[in-house]
Amino acid sequence: MKKSNPFPRRRIAVLGATGSIGKSTLDVLRQNTLAGRDDFEVVLLSSYTDQEGLLRLGEEFPDAILVLAKKGGLIEAIAEAKPDITVNGIAGAAGLEPSVAAIRAGSDLALANKETIVMAGPLIFSMAVEKKVRILPVDSEHSAIFNLLKAHGRDNAEEILLTASGGPFRKLSLKELGAVTAKDALAHPTWKMGPKITIDSASMANKGLEVIEAVRLFDMPPEKIKVVVHPQSVVHSMVRMKDGAVYAQLSRPDMRLPIHEALFWPETAPSPFGVLNFDALTLEFEKPDEEKFPMLPLAYEAARLGGLYPCVYNGANEAAVEAFFAEKAGFLDIPRIVEYVLSKRWNTDTLDMGSILEADRMARDLAKEFIENNRGK
Ligand code: MG
Repeated sequence: MKKSNPFPRRRIAVLGATGSIGKSTLDVLRQNTLAGRDDFEVVLLSSYTDQEGLLRLGEEFPDAILVLAKKGGLIEAIAEAKPDITVNGIAGAAGLEPSVAAIRAGSDLALANKETIVMAGPLIFSMAVEKKVRILPVDSEHSAIFNLLKAHGRDNAEEILLTASGGPFRKLSLKELGAVTAKDALAHPTWKMGPKITIDSASMANKGLEVIEAVRLFDMPPEKIKVVVHPQSVVHSMVRMKDGAVYAQLSRPDMRLPIHEALFWPETAPSPFGVLNFDALTLEFEKPDEEKFPMLPLAYEAARLGGLYPCVYNGANEAAVEAFFAEKAGFLDIPRIVEYVLSKRWNTDTLDMGSILEADRMARDLAKEFIENNRGK
C-alpha cells in the first residue's frame, strides 16, 4: 500500500518566474499549499527584467534566492540553490545555458523552454544521462506525447500527430498576411502567452520549433511527425500506433495542467484546475497551409538536415521576430529571413556547446544583414 503522501518534498527553482509559464507554475505551487500539502519548497526565482514583480514574489516565498537575470548571476545561483527540479520558463535561446546549469546542479528539468532541445537536444540528453536527471517536457503537446508514448509503448508507435491551434491568422489570405502588424498578432484566441511565442504561434514557427522538439525528444524522424491544425486546442496531441489505433490526450487548454503533471512525475496528484466539459464541445481538425505558413516546411527541412540547422532556424527566427516588433520587417519577411539563413552551409556533425552558441550568434548576424539589405523591398 502507498503512503498517504508518496512525494518526497522537493526543492524547486522557477526560471522566468514573472513570465507566463512562471506565473502558471507558481499558481500550481500555491494550489498545492491551499490543498494542505507541502510537496515543494521554492528555492530560486528568476526574472529577466521585472524587478518589481520579482520582489513581490520574494515576499511570498521568503526562502527563495531572487535573481534579476539581466544583471547576470543566474548560472551561479542555480548551482548554489541546488534544486531538485527546475522549471525553465525562460523565453527563447536565453533559456539554453540555464538549462545546462540546472542539469549540472543535478536537477530534474521541467522544460517549457523548447529552444533548449531545438538548439542542443543531443547534448542535453547525454548530459542528463550522465547526471541521472530527468527531462520532463512542459510544452502541452510534448507533455501529451510523452504521456501517450509512456502509456501505449514507444516501440508500438507509428507516428505522432502534433496538434496546432493554427494561430490567429489561420483564415487570412496571403495578401492579408503581408499587412499584419505586431499588434494584430498579439491577440491570440486560446492560450495567453508571452509576446515572442505569440508571434511564433501566428507564423507557425512555434509549431515548427515543436516539430523539431518532438524529433529530438522522442527520437522520431521528421516524416513521422504530422502537424494537424485543431483550433480548439483541447486535443494536445495524438499518437498513431502500428495497429492503426490513434490515442489522444485531451484537457482544458490551461498550461497549469502540463506543469502540474511534470512536477509530480512519475506519480500523479489530483489537479484543482477544472475538468473538460463535453456537453458543448466541438473538435475540428484540418491540414496546415504550408504556402501561407512557410515556417512549418522550413522547420521540417531544418529537422531533416539536423546538426546545427535547428539551432540556426531558431536563431534566425528570433532575430526576424525582433525586427518585426521593431517594424523593420513585415510578417511575411519572417520566413524569408529564416530561409536565407538556412540556405547557408552549417555543420551537421556532433555538436558541442561552443559551436551551438556560435551558430546561434552567426544566424542572428546573417538575419540582420539580410534585413538591412532588403529594407523597403
Ligand atoms: Mg506548445
